[in-house]
Amino acid sequence: MPVATSVEVLENYIGGTWTPSRATEFVDVHNPARGEVIAKTPLSTRADLDTAVAAAARAFPAWRDTPVVVRARAMFRFAHLLEQHFEELARTVTTEHGKTIDESRGSVRRAIECVEVACGAPSLMMGYGLEQIASNVDCTVLRQPLGVVAAITPFNFPAMVPLWFLPFAVATGNTIVVKPSEQVPLSARMLFKLLEQCDIPAGVVNLVNGGREIVEGVCDHPGIRAVSFVGSTPVARAVYQRATHAGKRVQALGGAKNFVVIMPDANFEKSIEVITESFYGCAGERCLAGSVLVPVGEAHKEARERLVESARSLKVGDGLAAGVKMGPVISGTHRDRVKTYIDQGVKEGAKLVLDGRNVSVADRDEGFFVGPTVFDEVSPDMAIGREEIFGPVASIRAVKSLDDAIALMQAHPNANATSIFTSSGKAAREFARHATASMVGVNIGVAAPMAYFPFGGAKDSFFGDLKVHGRDAFEFYSDKKVTITRWL
Ligand code: NAD
Repeated sequence: MPVATSVEVLENYIGGTWTPSRATEFVDVHNPARGEVIAKTPLSTRADLDTAVAAAARAFPAWRDTPVVVRARAMFRFAHLLEQHFEELARTVTTEHGKTIDESRGSVRRAIECVEVACGAPSLMMGYGLEQIASNVDCTVLRQPLGVVAAITPFNFPAMVPLWFLPFAVATGNTIVVKPSEQVPLSARMLFKLLEQCDIPAGVVNLVNGGREIVEGVCDHPGIRAVSFVGSTPVARAVYQRATHAGKRVQALGGAKNFVVIMPDANFEKSIEVITESFYGCAGERCLAGSVLVPVGEAHKEARERLVESARSLKVGDGLAAGVKMGPVISGTHRDRVKTYIDQGVKEGAKLVLDGRNVSVADRDEGFFVGPTVFDEVSPDMAIGREEIFGPVASIRAVKSLDDAIALMQAHPNANATSIFTSSGKAAREFARHATASMVGVNIGVAAPMAYFPFGGAKDSFFGDLKVHGRDAFEFYSDKKVTITRWL
């Protein structure tokens, strides 16, 4: 597809002004359903980052001193504007990411929910205290903002993941630099266009487009106090190590390989409908997507047959078109990577029962499509059984007992989310208690905690202590100051 010369190069938002980057390299942003280039992301330089951090640092003292209720009001305005622009934002997400418009709407709804929870800062940021801890001595604990913080986000939720962080950071009195994924910068730009209208002082919120150089710069920058990262495990681990080494508070969310267990006593009709959405929703590009289906005992045959039937019936196409149930993956490179995994699965001896490699979509010849794919007889040492594919590929691994299913999950280094489908409370309890993953669904396909609960995995899916949104966000973005007072 020829690149139009008029394709817009995006700007950064620094110190309250849209500013051209000093970049000399650019990344093409695609509409994945059409394969067209729709914008160019500048790979900003460390000098751009320095400018943004300096602006955020200048803004911090006054923002910290701004009453918390005034800071929260800015987030109320933001939530209101997001509602007004809901559909436009959802369309932007689909246009640059590819997911269906319904999925984009769901993600924008969750994004707004994060802003709503952050509006509770006057209550949720409160400390605590105790009088008379000794004669005439009282003690109070207050939460204070940290300073300049940064958030680095992945491609798969272009509007939602930046808002896992920004509203909480800002409502608690910090100033922030956000670096969105270079593959999906348009939703972040729209968020900042709305933030611009919220009466937030210049420098409180800053947007720096870029890639690795900015990420490494954020980790090393002496002016940044805390880093939130979401992305693949190798990068999450590297960011955690580098930024903690530089003395920062860090939460780094990594990749996933999510196990979905189905027991013989499950309601198969309802379960498979939900499981299909878990594996193929968002074309498998969710960190909570089902990846390995684990039927226990007699559940195997029926689970496989129903999953294949249900996956085959999914309409693949442009996420903006009516009736489409699965959009493209993010890029041509990623499509080829997913197909290579399918080739490798066949080579390693897994049984391919539904092949999505040759899917074609009318009028979208250049789109980055892979059809729903199902493998049976997948073992944990095969690449498709072990690695995160991040595409619409389900691997089935049948086991004899619930204990075997739990052992399979426990043996995997990732531990983001997991689900069980059963009508047995005992089995569900046993499973949830022993799950290594820290987001567990019982008859739920995508165990995504809402914005007032903590979000984040364990083992190689999460590096850090405090998780995302919910009460943890208020902890992450503040330090506890203890004052001990005596008046004689
Ligand atoms: P990614 O790791 O490639 O990129 C994430 C961010 O890191 C981007 O902003 C990117 O610019 C930057 N980056 C990429 N490579 C880098 C490098 N070598 N050094 C420094 N920075 C680098 O991830 P992605 O492909 O954008 O997103 C998909 C991944 O994110 C999947 O693994 C998925 O499971 C994970 N994810 C996890 C969660 C979670 O909650 N655990 C949520 C969403 C996505």
